[in-house]
Amino acid sequence: MAHLRHQALQSIRQYAAPFAMPVPFKSSERFAENVFNKKAMREFLSPEIYEALNEAIDQGHGISSEIARQVANGMKNWAMAKGATHYTHWFQPLTGSTAEKHDSFFSLNNDGEAIEAFSGGALVQQEPDASSFPSGGIRNTFEARGYTAWDPSSPAFVLESPAGKTLCIPTIFVSYTGESLDYKSPLLKSLAAVEKAGVAVCQYFDKNITRVFPTLGVEQEYFLVDSALFDARPDLVLSGRTLFGHGAARGQQLEDHYFGTIPERVHTFMVDLENEAYRLGIPLKTRHNEVAPGQFECAPLFEEINLAVDHNQLLMDLMEKLSKRHGLTVLLHEKPFAGVNGSGKHNNWSLGTNTGKNLLSPGKTPKSNLMFLTFFVNAIKAFHDHADLIRASIASAGNDHRLGANEAPPAIMSAFLGDQLSRVLDEIEKGKLDKDQVEVRSLMHQIKAIPEILLDNTDRNRTSPFAFTGNKFELRAVGSASNCAAAMTVLNAAMAQSLTAFKTEVDKAIGDGESREGALLKVLQKYIKASKKIRFEGNGYGEEWQKEAAKRGLSNYRTTPEALDAMVSKSTVQLFEKMGVYTEREIEARHEIMLENYIKKLQIESRVVGELSLTQIVPAAMTYQQRCLENLRLQKELGITAKSTASLKVLAETIGQHIAAMVEQTEKMRLARKKANEIESTRTRAQVYCEQVKPYLESIRDHADRLEILVDNELWPLPKYRELLFLK
Ligand code: ADP
Ligand code: MG
Repeated sequence: MAHLRHQALQSIRQYAAPFAMPVPFKSSERFAENVFNKKAMREFLSPEIYEALNEAIDQGHGISSEIARQVANGMKNWAMAKGATHYTHWFQPLTGSTAEKHDSFFSLNNDGEAIEAFSGGALVQQEPDASSFPSGGIRNTFEARGYTAWDPSSPAFVLESPAGKTLCIPTIFVSYTGESLDYKSPLLKSLAAVEKAGVAVCQYFDKNITRVFPTLGVEQEYFLVDSALFDARPDLVLSGRTLFGHGAARGQQLEDHYFGTIPERVHTFMVDLENEAYRLGIPLKTRHNEVAPGQFECAPLFEEINLAVDHNQLLMDLMEKLSKRHGLTVLLHEKPFAGVNGSGKHNNWSLGTNTGKNLLSPGKTPKSNLMFLTFFVNAIKAFHDHADLIRASIASAGNDHRLGANEAPPAIMSAFLGDQLSRVLDEIEKGKLDKDQVEVRSLMHQIKAIPEILLDNTDRNRTSPFAFTGNKFELRAVGSASNCAAAMTVLNAAMAQSLTAFKTEVDKAIGDGESREGALLKVLQKYIKASKKIRFEGNGYGEEWQKEAAKRGLSNYRTTPEALDAMVSKSTVQLFEKMGVYTEREIEARHEIMLENYIKKLQIESRVVGELSLTQIVPAAMTYQQRCLENLRLQKELGITAKSTASLKVLAETIGQHIAAMVEQTEKMRLARKKANEIESTRTRAQVYCEQVKPYLESIRDHADRLEILVDNELWPLPKYRELLFLK
């Protein structure tokens, strides 16, 4: 029987034309056609209801049940006009993916006649059977109910699949006792905190600012592999990454993939993805090859953060679904292939206002530049104060392979500002602000020059986890598969806390008789000093930085279990409780869930390695070794001299050693797992998995990968890197 690998290789060779050629259309004409946006609302809601709903959205307050009833009715009519038959509350549980449970509009009226109905209650709140979503012990079984609640700030949309269309209503997901069980509800709470603190600080500069909100543009990296080859790799299917595989002779060393010509088949997929994304209101803007072979990236225009997160989640869903139409499988894992770049999700973050200002963009006057500096320095201070928590928020089993792996930001959190802005901050730091106002005036003069400075500031430091890129910060350490709300919630909350403290200090200085500018500069100076150690302009990938960072006292958590400790530290609990983002109970539950998740991922990987070692790789190697041995025996029988058979004997012996090592280590790994599973404490279990089980994944793989380049190609069961990585 031919291996799945050979069948798969056969089937790609047969691949001729693109599977499903997308019908081209002008994106502006069909953009958001499947979204219940303002345009659709105006058409399907009465003017009064439209006004009431939008006012509630803008001001963040609730709506009456009568308005909910009418909105539900309009939404249903709109969705049915699009051909939808079902509706679902769409939410983001802590599994990392999105969840939906469909209900039909179908109903029976009092006379038993079939009708389509969708009540206000069904729009606003649902009670999905929540007991099988991760809750970190918040819900024990007798209070298993959780509920989803409508988030009117993210518009409903219609999802299409070949068998039907479904109205999706973005919702938060909370336990019956009110604790959040998802990514969206804490994100929304962090927005309220930033808004409050941000608006207050804006009043120093512009009384017209009544809203401050974070904006986000997510660059999403991913790999594509042929689906037939994917199916022939149980490790990819079950764990999302290759647990075996010798590097291809050619990897990314020729540096010919980045921004290279996009393969036609991939291009077809990208066009299809963009079309479908546009129809759902996701404003995809760029697409290109990434550094590794088989790796690509797409990025949308930035949006308000809540919407941007929803869109990124939806985009990942779409990618997974649509790639299938093209005989491709998308890999969102942070490190699907050893030895070539992994994938991240660069989070471009800034703050916008109701007046259309980007608070991290310098302006034309000294005053507006002081405003820019205020938000800029506070962002650095926020990042500095909670760097460990940011690190925790991006920790996952997958991201551990990427962070610090010489091609991704290191696990050390640092901020890159660029030469020019660093110099401006240094000047402010040196300013003798206590003595007189002369220094203030001179500094204001320098601040005035910031926009010109920035204009030709083309500094690009790709090695920094948190880089200022002219009018936004880019958090690059987020893993490609994760929900970016986790990291963004931390950043928002930290920013809110910093701004709140800043305001208090500035007010106090003004109260003590300082001028407003003097007071602002003085507190900025203090914050610049306080956050200095987080700033690093050099090469984040270098050895020297590891040493320098250690000297500065910056943390360098290489693994998830230790990185996650910051989630439950005193300063974290204080931050989240003060900013109203999480209660202590929620924090502990989340910590537990993240640890559990880590353990489960390693457990799955370890089981897959065990099974594939014993049932596929060792048997293939034994068959080949036997052939070598038979050949040796024949040569001996025919009287061929020992001299010419010596190297063949070495080969057979080498193969034998690798086989023996694999068998032995697989058993040891199983025992290590068994021992780990008996540990009560989740924190300790995670640590033991990391220290006692994970090393076997690497050592067993090492033997297997050596066998891969010794054993007959025909016998090798798993598609090889050279077959997986180069799409044509
Ligand atoms: P690059 O970082 O490669 O230079 P861009 O600067 O064009 O690329 O932007 C990358 C991402 O940053 C895009 O998604 C873009 O929409 C987003 N972005 C640009 N300005 C902002 C902003 N003010 N807030 C949030 N994201 C932004
Ligand atoms: Mg970028």
